[in-house]
Amino acid sequence: MKRPLIWGGIALLLAVAVFLVFDGGGRWIERRQYLMGTLVQIKATDDGAISAAFGEMVRLERLTSKEGEGELAQLNREARAGPVKASDELFSLLEEALQYQELTRGKFDIALGKLVDLWGFGEEGSEVPSAEQIERLLGERGVSLDRANKTVKLDRNSKLDLGGIAKGYAVDRAIQVLKDRGVEAALVDAGGDIRIYGSRPERFFSHRRFKIAIQHPRKESQILGTVQLSGDRAIATSGDYQRYFVRDGIRYHHILDPATGRPARGCISATIIAPTALVADALATGVFVLGPTEGLELIEKFPGVEGIIVGSAGEIHKSSGLNNLRLVY
Ligand code: AMP
Ligand code: MG
Repeated sequence: MKRPLIWGGIALLLAVAVFLVFDGGGRWIERRQYLMGTLVQIKATDDGAISAAFGEMVRLERLTSKEGEGELAQLNREARAGPVKASDELFSLLEEALQYQELTRGKFDIALGKLVDLWGFGEEGSEVPSAEQIERLLGERGVSLDRANKTVKLDRNSKLDLGGIAKGYAVDRAIQVLKDRGVEAALVDAGGDIRIYGSRPERFFSHRRFKIAIQHPRKESQILGTVQLSGDRAIATSGDYQRYFVRDGIRYHHILDPATGRPARGCISATIIAPTALVADALATGVFVLGPTEGLELIEKFPGVEGIIVGSAGEIHKSSGLNNLRLVY
């Protein structure tokens, strides 16, 4: 064989080796599990770490369920009678949730459990409750936290429902488990509450940022658009198409306006991009209830937070950082 050919071959092999090293090259594993009322998907390069992340989410499903044997359910059974001691973790989560309640002037509300049960969204035979039934549950829904003693006390009509924030929290915790195990890149998606970090271990340097599709709120098989995320970012969407029933041509969905006890009517979807999934989840629900105008005002107050809101007439509102984002509708 001639020398130039040998050198050419060696150079090519070296180039391929360098390419593979810089390309990351780990195998992208994808697993799914039904959790917290939705299909959770985790993508990462380490199967053991994925199992640990799912394990953490199973623990949090129990901790944050309003029914069953977990701690939140226990508070719901006992804290109306008097203050009940909470674990540090649940107490902190409740404190954080109440901050969003304040920021949204009460539109994000974690004490709507009885009203959510009354509507029974999506369950077999859901019916529109009477005005009287709703009225009865509107008042006396306070939640008192005693920071010194870490106790929780609920008013007569309060039932804690963390449905608007718990998935975000669980996604953040799953991401932390993956990071703690040295995983360099991952995606955790709990039914549209998504967080990513690192860059996809894709071959050939292409598409290394995460491309996330936002579901079209009315055309089931279409997307509203895509956003590219990189670094460590989260995105969550609240929509009137996720859990609902239709009676006499009217859509009754699962996100309630605490002022009326009825489905909020200002938006059909609200998507939030934020540094953590908890922030994205809580703000998506809160902004959905606030409606486009006040919702955008709130988004603009947070550095590093952006939003895409589809108003009730189908019109699209984007926060200032997304001016160049192209969306279809
Ligand atoms: P999400 O899909 O994150 O917007 O959360 C919706 C869930 O949060 C509902 O299924 C209820 O369990 C709960 N929820 C309903 N209305 C509200 C509200 N105004 N504030 C906070 N949580 C709510
Ligand atoms: Mg939410």
